[in-house]
Amino acid sequence: MNCYINFKPTENAFSKRTYLVTGASQGIGYALALAIAQFGGELILLARNENKLNQLYDQILATEAPTPLIIPLDLAKLDTEEAETLARHIEAQCGQLNGLIHNASILGKLTPLDQYPIPLWEQVLKVNTTSCFTLTQALTPLMQKSKPTSVIFSSSSVGREPRAYWGAYSISKCATEALMQIWANEWANTSHIRVNSINPGGTRTQMRRQAYPAENPLSCPKPEAILGTYLYLLADESEHISGKQFSAQPSQSK
Ligand code: NDP
Repeated sequence: MNCYINFKPTENAFSKRTYLVTGASQGIGYALALAIAQFGGELILLARNENKLNQLYDQILATEAPTPLIIPLDLAKLDTEEAETLARHIEAQCGQLNGLIHNASILGKLTPLDQYPIPLWEQVLKVNTTSCFTLTQALTPLMQKSKPTSVIFSSSSVGREPRAYWGAYSISKCATEALMQIWANEWANTSHIRVNSINPGGTRTQMRRQAYPAENPLSCPKPEAILGTYLYLLADESEHISGKQFSAQPSQSK
């Protein structure tokens, strides 16, 4: 299965629930956080750029959603100790975690593997894959106590079919898919936590401009136009779905 769902939650579908969005300072993460707030969810907003997070914070305050929590954090530096401190902070402030959306990523460099700079390779794998593992592991005890709970990993076309010149980014997304699959399998009979991946498809963001500088930006939809599948995987309607690959746009769907 690799499907697209055109879904709109019911009013207040996410009220009394808490969602952590990484990479919430811009692009898809920003739009997703705002959409969750519009359906009543409490947000935890994680990224490096505190000014942009504050801008989102102000926008969320204008909705009916609870006051969000801001976590300025560099995932390239995240270790187990910091992740566990973060988990304790979230438990103390929010008491629960019903959604963990691993959205933050970096593109790295598009170049042949034999020229790929090793420090950049390590940074891309750390931000895009290892930090998702570290965060999920640290937040698992809280997610086990929270119901319902949905984890979403962000993939890409090159995470489902490795592509020449996409280097560490493609590898990191392939590894992310594996992480999603293994966690879903391990929890299939032992936990209520569901785990799925989404390929957003070409979307009008800074990362897309970096990857395709010659492309007309208007040829891709805006982030707010591709959120149906994300909202579906966070809503009760997907309660029994785990271990599946989704697409956020029909053109990516097979
Ligand atoms: P953007 O580049 O617009 O946003 C990336 C986000 O990740 C920013 O909020 C950035 O925040 C955050 N981030 C990057 N590095 C770090 C770090 N070290 N620590 C914490 N946060 C970090 O990307 P998109 O919105 O386009 O992408 C969102 C997801 O969708 C990504 O996983 C991407 O791989 C995936 N995707 C996107 C596609 C597209 O066409 N846009 C296509 C396929 C997949 P800050 O700089 O403030 O830290």
